[in-house]
Amino acid sequence: PSPPRKKRLVLLGATGSIGTNTLRVLRAHPDKLELVGIAGHSNWAKLAAIATEFRVPHVGIFDDASFNTARAEISAFPAGTALHHGLDGLNALATLPDADVVLVAVVGTTGLAPALAALAAGKDLALASKEILVLAGKFVMAAAREHGAALLPVDSEHNAVFQCLAGHPGSAVRRIVLTASGGAFRDWPADQLARATPADALRHPNWSMGPKITVDSATLANKGLELMEAKWLFNLQPAQCQAVLHAQSIVHCLVEFFDGTMLAQLSPPSMTFPIQHALLHPERRAGVEPPLDLARLFSLDFRPVDESRFPLLRIAREAMEAGGVAPAVYNAANEIAVAAFLQGRIPFLAIPPVVEQSLGLISPADPVDLASVLAVDADARRIAAEQLRRYSL
Ligand code: NAD
Ligand code: MG
Repeated sequence: PSPPRKKRLVLLGATGSIGTNTLRVLRAHPDKLELVGIAGHSNWAKLAAIATEFRVPHVGIFDDASFNTARAEISAFPAGTALHHGLDGLNALATLPDADVVLVAVVGTTGLAPALAALAAGKDLALASKEILVLAGKFVMAAAREHGAALLPVDSEHNAVFQCLAGHPGSAVRRIVLTASGGAFRDWPADQLARATPADALRHPNWSMGPKITVDSATLANKGLELMEAKWLFNLQPAQCQAVLHAQSIVHCLVEFFDGTMLAQLSPPSMTFPIQHALLHPERRAGVEPPLDLARLFSLDFRPVDESRFPLLRIAREAMEAGGVAPAVYNAANEIAVAAFLQGRIPFLAIPPVVEQSLGLISPADPVDLASVLAVDADARRIAAEQLRRYSL
């Protein structure tokens, strides 16, 4: 009998942290997964190396200058490689006739149009980029329903909820609780936070990730964004989406059902676990890293989040309750504030008030279409940038 067909994957954001972990999963399961397209922002040499190793026929490069260099250096790519360029190139990759599933792991809002294009073409969408559901959850969920495409969550907490919900009707769920490590400042005395530097914020105790998301872990804005995503993915009310501090990052979620039972998902704090689950689903295979070792002592702690210490979690809840474009404003203003903090332009404790004031200045109307969401995203960035001046160092 002929061997079962492989799942054909397009990986947008192949050169990043999620991309690199995805390649580790692909190396372990070459009989199950095949890479048919990759894209990145500008690192063409790294894309050429990935294309060569995995014999990838389609490569996308967003940046103009890097695309031109790659075209001149085409001999670095496998013979016959099709090079794609810019946002059109990402959309072309996301809709390749040869692809079954598209993993969007591009940082920022650039992944939104390709994600929607993939769904419209009936591809399954594996989602790592947080911005996509926070900005356009309404449109993304509608597109998935309309085209019968599956949404496979890659972020560890959402992947965990997805696993715990298997076999349960949505109506059985009372609430979901996402775990937060507390980031770099979890155990800092509150009066020292005013002097926290970017280098301090980037020392994450458990996870190794890009700088923006690492700062978001220290403010809990990352958890705020994840609650916003969870609401869309699992069709919940804002009040049903909650967070708890869990220092070890071993339990990734708790799902509480109406009978009071909770299910949890446990795995070591590495993204290869949720990435492999999303890509092989519903099949289970040996993972690329060892599982938890119960022969060694470890403990699991949980404690409630102190919102006076982590105001961006409270602000996220309020933005979810306000609905409409408020989550998009939260996301955009936070991005501006975090970038300013990382450049040493504002103190750590200025990040939450910049976000809160920006939310106060934009009315959270329900977006009528994608263009109106993107317009709000741009407005929020401009307004947040104006707020920075009050706090500049
Ligand atoms: P990263 O900065 O390490 O990598 C980003 C990737 O996106 C790179 O490959 C880069 O080339 C690509 N990229 C950026 N702009 C692009 C553009 N305009 N066109 C094409 N490609 C572009 O980021 P990351 O940590 O891998 O995170 C990616 C996304 O996944 C983010 O939205 C993040 O919130 C989410 N996420 C990351 C983790 C993690 O463990 N790193 C966990 C959960 C969710
Ligand atoms: Mg996460």
